Amino acid sequence: MAKLTAEERQRRAVRRARREALAAEEEDRRLEERRQLWAREGTRLSRAELEAGEPCRGCGEPIRDGRGDSPALLHMTSAEREEHDREEARYRGRHGDCRSYRWTLEGSRTQHCGYCCPPPPMSERQVEKLSALLVSIKTENRDLDDWDLTLTCDHVVRCTQHRDHDHYSRRVVDCPTCATRRGVVEVERVGPTDDPEGRVQRERLLSELQAAKAKLERQRRTVEKTQRRIDELSEKLRAAES
Ligand SMILES: [Zn+2]
Ligand SMILES: [Zn+2]
Ligand SMILES: [Zn+2]
Repeated sequence: MAKLTAEERQRRAVRRARREALAAEEEDRRLEERRQLWAREGTRLSRAELEAGEPCRGCGEPIRDGRGDSPALLHMTSAEREEHDREEARYRGRHGDCRSYRWTLEGSRTQHCGYCCPPPPMSERQVEKLSALLVSIKTENRDLDDWDLTLTCDHVVRCTQHRDHDHYSRRVVDCPTCATRRGVVEVERVGPTDDPEGRVQRERLLSELQAAKAKLERQRRTVEKTQRRIDELSEKLRAAES
């Protein structure tokens, strides 16, 4: 097969990125439709209903089944293993095409499907823990980077993300122009959201400079090594000729 030119490779990569963004957008739509269906039909249980032992309105199976957490695969007796395999097969039969995660309530074994079964409502304790966490991770503007995202509709939107991330993580975002969710085809880091003194910019340049210097040093050592090899071989050749 003929080798691809750099230009052809580039074109293929762009096509692939677009295809993946459209797929992510489609998946986002599938899940959003499901959430709307749950809202319309009142599929979600309240915490009180859950505590009272109501079965899942998505699949009809119990949520709080009183069977305790499932033992680890390695520690199962053969009877437990058989039961596990039977339930696994039954689960696959019911949710094999759902393309989703599974969830189980702590202290129960019955598995539920992320696509068919609305996740259980949080307990008060969980809500408290989560709010405490959200307060503690309140992000300062100076820790954010701006990113330009090109979407499947070709609109470009600017979003922010914490500087700890090297890649933009969300696959689907809101497009204000189209007023709908769109897949992200291409991302470009613009720079710090808020960096009036240019501190972040300087730090980034400094670390890039250090990386480039280290690379040069490695290349210099390779050149020296090659030069020594050339000298050695020339020396041997001269000796052989004389
Ligand atoms: Zn369920
Ligand atoms: Zn399912
Ligand atoms: Zn758009």
